[in-house]
Amino acid sequence: MLRVEALSVRYGPVHVIHGVSLSVEEGELVTLIGANGAGKSTMLKAISGLVKYEGKITFNGEAFDNCGPRNVLAAGISHCPEGRRVFPHLTVTENLIMGAYLRKDRDEVARDINGFFDRFPRLGERRSQAAGTLSGGEQQMLAIARTMMSRPKLVLFDEPSLGLAPNLVEQTFRFILDIRAKGTTVLMVEQNALAALQLCDRSYLLSSGKVVQKGTSVEMLANPHIRQAYLGG
Ligand code: ATP
Repeated sequence: MLRVEALSVRYGPVHVIHGVSLSVEEGELVTLIGANGAGKSTMLKAISGLVKYEGKITFNGEAFDNCGPRNVLAAGISHCPEGRRVFPHLTVTENLIMGAYLRKDRDEVARDINGFFDRFPRLGERRSQAAGTLSGGEQQMLAIARTMMSRPKLVLFDEPSLGLAPNLVEQTFRFILDIRAKGTTVLMVEQNALAALQLCDRSYLLSSGKVVQKGTSVEMLANPHIRQAYLGG
């Protein structure tokens, strides 16, 4: 579904991604793991058209060629950014409507919003409240739901568990597994390497902007280098 070939990204003079290739097949949940600064977020930003890159990205056979975030979203890729980034002064409902801004099917948009409120009644009760006043966990659920409002084929999650209490981390991962179970393909960046490897089908380990290991969840969990360096031995 997604094919990234020899991707390189520079921020001014600083070269942070060095010829990374990866692929995601339809229906998979793939994770990118690695230490701080390895380039994981930059990979997602390149795929969703937020940063310029060299190399080739194709999605369902269509080349993106630095076509920009609006076209990437229109093609069916939605990005849930690190740190939630809800619109703090907009209400919960308005945030969800923003997630659907390319859609014209208003009745279906309203149905998706109501479906989300059924699933998370706390947010339904707060539908008219400014999103900035929600708790961190509520904001994370809202950010994920907003991402799904475009009805993406592929969703990119950047550190969805960051800064959440353990019970909310579990709830967040359950939500993501549910999204995948309903047919959306997932590419997720996650600092928590153990959780990322337990949830995924396949994973890529990035280090200093390069892929240094890749494999199935089982292969990665059994890899001695990964166990030592990322899973606490
Ligand atoms: P973390 O887990 O800490 O979020 P990461 O693996 O997601 O790290 P990136 O955020 O992609 O890493 O950053 C990769 C490198 O690019 C880092 O060295 C970072 O300092 C640098 N970088 C990221 N964004 C910019 C930017 N806008 N301008 C300049 N350098 C940047």
